[in-house]
Amino acid sequence: MSITPITDPNQENEPPILVPLDGGLIDAMVIPAYCLNCEKQLSHFFHYKGSRYGQVGEIVCNHCQSIIYCTDHDNIQHFIYMSPENYINPFINNTLERTPSKIDFNSLYMVNGEVMEKLRQTVASKSSTDHFKHQSRKMEIAELVDVSCKQLNIK
Ligand SMILES: [Zn+2]
Repeated sequence: MSITPITDPNQENEPPILVPLDGGLIDAMVIPAYCLNCEKQLSHFFHYKGSRYGQVGEIVCNHCQSIIYCTDHDNIQHFIYMSPENYINPFINNTLERTPSKIDFNSLYMVNGEVMEKLRQTVASKSSTDHFKHQSRKMEIAELVDVSCKQLNIK
């Protein structure tokens, strides 16, 4: 469980997006951050490595110095919630869904059903024989954006 700023993108050694082969939602391991206090995106991207009971960790806004508390759904990385007030309890019904601080990675990367099908085909075509061992494949953000833009006809 952690969220830490990426200071040197050249030191990346893991593709940051996980595409599920069953066509579900993507998981993100490298993410942007947004501050609801000053309404700006933070300058760094962040390594996002899960949570413990939904608590991912705290980051500091580089614009207004607010502490931003990051929460998720405990065992998946489809969404993250960034609140300037406190952690949100993910185990109280609908608490996370009611906050204005949600970052939905499928929305962020414009992955609709059609794009997901293309992503699924793209990663499946590169997969080898361990087809049944893993439910998902890693992908670079640049490749994901490329597939999304082609599929949605964005130039
Ligand atoms: Zn701020």
